[in-house]
Amino acid sequence: MSTPVSELTPQNYKTDEHPIWCPGCGDFGVLASLYNALAGLQINPKDLVVVSGIGCSGRTPGFIKSYGFHSVHGRVLPVALGVKLGNPSLHVIGVGGDGDGFAIGGGHIPHAARRNPDITYIIMDNATYGLTKGQYSPTSQVGFQAGSTPYGNIEQPLNPLAMLIAYGATFVGQGYSGKPRELADLITKAMEHKGFAFLNVISPCITFYNTYKVIPPRLAEVPKDHEVTNRAKAFELALQTEHIPLGLFYQTTQPTFEEGVAQVIKKAQAASPPRLDEIFAEFS
Ligand code: SF4
Repeated sequence: MSTPVSELTPQNYKTDEHPIWCPGCGDFGVLASLYNALAGLQINPKDLVVVSGIGCSGRTPGFIKSYGFHSVHGRVLPVALGVKLGNPSLHVIGVGGDGDGFAIGGGHIPHAARRNPDITYIIMDNATYGLTKGQYSPTSQVGFQAGSTPYGNIEQPLNPLAMLIAYGATFVGQGYSGKPRELADLITKAMEHKGFAFLNVISPCITFYNTYKVIPPRLAEVPKDHEVTNRAKAFELALQTEHIPLGLFYQTTQPTFEEGVAQVIKKAQAASPPRLDEIFAEFS
């Protein structure tokens, strides 16, 4: 007998697949937070779709009892958007790493943000390409030494939060895999948000870019008096470099993409377009 929705617990979202991430990988914390957020929201697995790209975090759909789509590199957002448009009643979560999202898939982010589909997009940001043995990524710090940058990375890192606020995302926040309770709360808020919700989750790669010692001393909460609806203030907070603030940076309300598409379909249906044979007749 299947479990009634009202009794769903974090355990109910676990599959029989055991994560094969390295012990200590930050992605474990993100996965645990996802289980807790889903149970808190009592989301029926049949109404949930988790879409991923390629990378260590790309394995996530296999570990969550839901529909899942392990797509191709950098294409989380187009696939997630297609799923949402196909069935707007579904809860759609996109997950991926910083390389998948900000390099290979970087061109999709501004368009997802400005279209505002009701999707939650979680980047597990470890500032490296873990799956392919630790090359530098768009969020690696200057000086980061890896096989691809033996003399140190010379490129400035992207600022994911500033980028998403600038692109017009309607919900922008930041979490840390080492604080799973707070992260679960943030994921819950992101999923409750009606529109494109972006979460940058600092999720260290213990094997190729172990930041467990350098990140925690810099963590801070988003200040209690921060005005989340003030875009300029959110941008200012995202640009400061003293701390790594965790929490909600920005939130606003806008019509969703699927609402707009539904209106266009309605208008087109009401407009009674010419029949195909009438169009052909014009050219005969
Ligand atoms: Fe995690 Fe890094 Fe191991 Fe990949 S290589 S599973 S990101 S610790």
